[in-house]
Amino acid sequence: MADKRDYYEVLGVSRSASESEIKKAYRKLAKQYHPDTNPGDKVAEAKFKEASEAYEVLSDPEKKAQYDQFGHAAFEQGGPGGFNGGGFGGFDFGGDMGDIFGDIFGGMFGGGGRSQRAANTPTQGAHVRARIHVTFEEAVFGTTKKLEISLKEECASCHGSGAKAGTHPETCPKCGGKGQVVYTQQSMFGTVRNVQTCPDCQGTGQVIKEKCPDCHGSGYVSQRKTIEVTVPAGINNGQSIRIRGKGEPGTNGGPRGDLLVVVSVDRHPKFQRQEYDIISTEPISFTQAALGATIKINTVDGPYDYTIKAGTQTDTRVRLKGKGVPTLRNKNVRGDHYVTLVVQVPEHLNEEQKNALKKFQESMGEVPKKEEHKGFFGKHKK
Ligand SMILES: [Zn+2]
Ligand SMILES: [Zn+2]
Repeated sequence: MADKRDYYEVLGVSRSASESEIKKAYRKLAKQYHPDTNPGDKVAEAKFKEASEAYEVLSDPEKKAQYDQFGHAAFEQGGPGGFNGGGFGGFDFGGDMGDIFGDIFGGMFGGGGRSQRAANTPTQGAHVRARIHVTFEEAVFGTTKKLEISLKEECASCHGSGAKAGTHPETCPKCGGKGQVVYTQQSMFGTVRNVQTCPDCQGTGQVIKEKCPDCHGSGYVSQRKTIEVTVPAGINNGQSIRIRGKGEPGTNGGPRGDLLVVVSVDRHPKFQRQEYDIISTEPISFTQAALGATIKINTVDGPYDYTIKAGTQTDTRVRLKGKGVPTLRNKNVRGDHYVTLVVQVPEHLNEEQKNALKKFQESMGEVPKKEEHKGFFGKHKK
């Protein structure tokens, strides 16, 4: 995994390549290295797989965004709860990939696969989306959340057949299992054949005489399920976590779809996030700024002792290295925390404090207000 080639490099396109440029580049490579045109050629096979994998990611806007941001790391943490992608469990030539293969090889092998695959091909179930909320700190350090969703499950009583226990779906007597019925009609133009979807079996070719009482013949039941979602440290607002196999059930023995959990990160009263850095402001007093002091700065790791130099100006920006957000690739690599120190001017002074400041003013050579005016006019009169 470590020295995997960059997907853009694999396809030979720039990082700013358009969707159609990516598609074009892939088609060219797929044609060149397809195993059917290079029988027994291991190098071609590897190149074909590499290009297909690159295309699978770069042709999917969601995966492409993940890849652009995190590189291969975005897809390396497999398993349930792994971060978006969870490795490629073999290639899925459905969807857009199917289209491309239809385009390229449809002519070569006669007939093409498209029209045939509709019937009884195993098809993956639909992906399901859900949303969870996490606090700023939970997003920084990672957490686990319980998510309640209703999941369609195969009915345990009929094992998905929809027929009452002890009975089986039967071949539809109306259409003989074909799913279509043909009517012949006499009209003024002669005999007309009408082909219609069988009304008794809705085209499935099977009828259920006695419906399973638990699922009302659908074969599925909805169940409330609690799913534990592992939120990785460093996740950002709007990113999603893919949990394999927790979507809708597949058909004809196809795998279940995935559950995509979109993460909403709550705002923090003090901290803001920029990529992997944290930004905040910290008030310091006028005397701390002038004399220097050790102050406590709030960080996501708790209070941090920071020594400010004597003579610190307001809006001074300090960097607390490694106190930012952990990166998704490696939680031990963290961004920084930038703190802007804002000098507070005292607002309510008592007599003692006022006198002390007046003394300070005198010692700084600043002339008190009244005398300042005299001096000013005095100078002018000369
Ligand atoms: Zn049932
Ligand atoms: Zn029928």
